[in-house]
Amino acid sequence: MEKQPAPAAETGPPRGLRARLHLTKARIIYWPFRTIVQLAFFVLFSGIGIVSLVPAFNGGRSYVVLPVVASVKSQATVTSTMDAITVLLENGLFPWLPVGIMLVVGAILGRFMCGWICPVGFLQDIITNVKGRVDAVENRAHEYWIRLKYVLVVIAFLLSGSLGLAVYYGVGTNYRSSLGPFADGLFVAIAPDGTLFGTLPVIFGGSWRYLTTPQPAGITGADISTWLGQISALTWLNIVILIGFIYAAWRIPRFWCRYVCPVGAIMAVTQKNSMLGMHRDPVKCSDCKECETACPMQVPILDLDWKKFNDSECILCMACIDACPAGAISPKFP
Ligand code: SF4
Ligand code: SF4
Repeated sequence: MEKQPAPAAETGPPRGLRARLHLTKARIIYWPFRTIVQLAFFVLFSGIGIVSLVPAFNGGRSYVVLPVVASVKSQATVTSTMDAITVLLENGLFPWLPVGIMLVVGAILGRFMCGWICPVGFLQDIITNVKGRVDAVENRAHEYWIRLKYVLVVIAFLLSGSLGLAVYYGVGTNYRSSLGPFADGLFVAIAPDGTLFGTLPVIFGGSWRYLTTPQPAGITGADISTWLGQISALTWLNIVILIGFIYAAWRIPRFWCRYVCPVGAIMAVTQKNSMLGMHRDPVKCSDCKECETACPMQVPILDLDWKKFNDSECILCMACIDACPAGAISPKFP
C-alpha cells in the first residue's frame, strides 16, 4: 500500500498559545470612541431643544442630509435622507440628492451611520445600557419581524410617490390636503424622533417661556385647559408612539432599527454589498458566541462567511469586537 504523506506541520506556536499571544497584543476598544461620536451627533441633532429653551441661541438650519433618523420637524443641523425624500416628493421634485447620498454612503460604509451617528440609534443604546443586558428574540420571530420595516418603507414610498406624481402633473392639491399631516411623509408624521426633537421641545419651550413670564392674573385652570386643548390628536398619537418606542427599546435592543426604521431598511440593502464589513479569524475564534450575545442586532455571526460578513442587519457598531475574548473579529475594508 502506498504510504500517505504526513500532514504538513503547522509553523509557529501551537494554536492555544497563539490565541494567548494575540490576547497580549494591544487591542482597540471601540465603545468609548463610539459613545463620544454618538453623543456629539446627538447634541448636533437636538438643535431645536436648545433653541426652544435658550432663545438667545441662534441655531441656524443647514440642509445637509444623512442616512440616519433626524426629523425635518426639528431645527436639527442635519436632516434624515428619508424625510428629505418624502418632502421633495410632496413638492413634485425627484429626490436625486438624498437618494444619491444613500447609495454612495451605503456602497462605502453600509449601515455604519446606524451604529455610530444616528441619534435614535444612540437613544436605544442608552436604554439597553441602562438595562444592562442585550436580550435576544426567538430566532423565528426575529426573522419574521425583520420584514416589517421593508413593508413600512414600501407603504411610505407609495404614499409619497403617488403624491409626488400627482403634484408633478398639476393635480395634487386636493390629494395633498386630503392626506393632511401625512403629506410630508408617513414617517415625518409619526416617527419618534420628530416628537422628541421637534414637537416636544416646541411644546415645553413655549410652556417654559409662558410659565417664567409674570402673568397679571397668575396661571389659572382655564389657562391649563386651553393649553391642553391646543395639543392636537396627532401630537397625542406621537407621544403614545414615543412611549411605545422607549418601552420596545427596553424590551428588545434596537427594536426600532431592527423592525421599523425606513432608513435602516434602505441601508440594509446597501449593507449587503458595502465595502466596509466585518471579518472573523477562524484560527483565533473558539466559537464561544460572546460576539453573538453582545450583538444588539442579533446577527448570527458564527454562521456567516468568516472572510468578510456583510449581514443586512449589521450596523457595524463593533460591539462584537469589544466582546470577543480572543480578538478574533475586526473591521474589513474593502
Ligand atoms: S436603523 Fe436605527 S440607527 Fe439606522 S437610521 Fe434607523 S433609527 Fe437610525
Ligand atoms: S455583527 Fe458586530 S458590528 Fe455588526 S451589529 Fe452585531 S455587534 Fe455590531
